[in-house]
Amino acid sequence: MRIVLLGAPGSGKGTQSQRLVQRHGIPQISTGDLLRAAVANGTDLGLKAKEAMDSGRLVEDDIVLGMIRERLSEPDAQRGFILDGFPRNLAQAQALDVLLSELGQPLDAVVQMDVDYGELLRRISGRRTCADCGRVFNLLTCPPGQADKETCPKTGGPHRLFQRPDDNEATVAQRLKVYDEKTKPLVEFYRTQGVLRSIDAEGELDDVTQRLEQALRAPPSSKVATAVTKAPARKSTRKPGRTGATKAKGRRTARGQGNAKGKRAAKTRRAAKPKSVAAKRAGTSKRAPVKTRAAKKSALRQAGSARGRAGKKSPAKKAPATKAPAKKGAGNRVSGKRAAGRTKRAGKR
Ligand code: AMP
Repeated sequence: MRIVLLGAPGSGKGTQSQRLVQRHGIPQISTGDLLRAAVANGTDLGLKAKEAMDSGRLVEDDIVLGMIRERLSEPDAQRGFILDGFPRNLAQAQALDVLLSELGQPLDAVVQMDVDYGELLRRISGRRTCADCGRVFNLLTCPPGQADKETCPKTGGPHRLFQRPDDNEATVAQRLKVYDEKTKPLVEFYRTQGVLRSIDAEGELDDVTQRLEQALRAPPSSKVATAVTKAPARKSTRKPGRTGATKAKGRRTARGQGNAKGKRAAKTRRAAKPKSVAAKRAGTSKRAPVKTRAAKKSALRQAGSARGRAGKKSPAKKAPATKAPAKKGAGNRVSGKRAAGRTKRAGKR
C-alpha cells in the first residue's frame, strides 16, 4: 500500500500513521521527522532547514525532495509506505509523481484528514512527544501522569515528554496559513487523479482509525469522485432526554468544538449538493413539483384565467435565492473555520 496522508498540522497524520505502521507493517515516512532529525544532528541540511521550520514556513523543495528520494529507495519502502507531511505543495506533488513512476510504484490512495480549525489549535497546544521513541501524546486525552505510567520502548523507562518548539501560537498560525495556501490545493490535484478519499478526522482515535481503514479499502469510484467517510455518531443532534453522561461529554467538548456543529451541518449540505445536482439531471430533483406548479400557472395564464391576466408573480419563485450563501467559502474550509473562530472569540469578549 502506498499512501499519502494529507491534512493540516494537528489533524492526526502522525498518530494515524503510527497505527497504520502497526497494522500493515509498512514504514511511516514523515518529512517533519526527517528534518527534525537533521536539525538535532546538526547536519548542513538541518542547519538550512531550521530557520524555515522555526518560523513555520516550508523548507526548500530541493532539500525535502532529496530526503524523500533517498528514503523511498530504502529496502523497507519497497513493500509500501505512508507519506506523512509530504507532499506539501504542487511542485512537490508533481516531483513525487515523476519519482514514483520512475520507481514503478504509483500511489494507491491519498487520504485527506478533515478537522475543524478550533480543534486543530486545541490539539496542537496539548501535543507532546516522547524525546526517545518519538511517540506523540496529547495532554487532552492522555494526561502526563498516565503517559508516565507507560514504558518507553526505546529506554525501558517512562516517556520523556517535550513540546515541539514550532507548536507555539505564532508559528502554528503561520503553519496553518501555509497549509491553506500551499498544501490545500493538493486536494484538487489528487481528486483529479482519482486517488483522493476524505475522512472526518475528529472524534475518538479508534473511530478515526476505523474511518481511515474504511477509506483505504474503498475504491475511488471515478476521476472526480471522493469517498467521504464521516463520523455517524457525531451527526446526532442533542435531544432533551439525553443522559447525564452525554451531557457531561457535551460540556467537556464544548470549548473546542463549539463551531463544529454548524460546520458539520454546512459540510453535510455540501456533501448533499452533488446528489441533488445528479438527481436534478436524472429528473428526480425535489424542486420538480415547483416547476410543475409554475408550469400549471403558466398554463392557466395562457388559458386566460383572472390571475394569469393580472400577471401576479408566484412567491415560490424567490426560493432559489436562499441557495447562494451556502455555496460561498465551500472551497476553503480552514479559512472558513478561522473566520468562524474569530467571530466566536469576538462574541466572547
Ligand atoms: P510537520 O512535523 O510535518 O508538522 O513539519 C514540521 C515543519 O517541517 C514544517 O512546518 C515545515 O517547516 C517542515 N516540513 C515538513 N515537511 C515538509 C515538506 N514536505 N516541505 C517543506 N517543509 C516541510
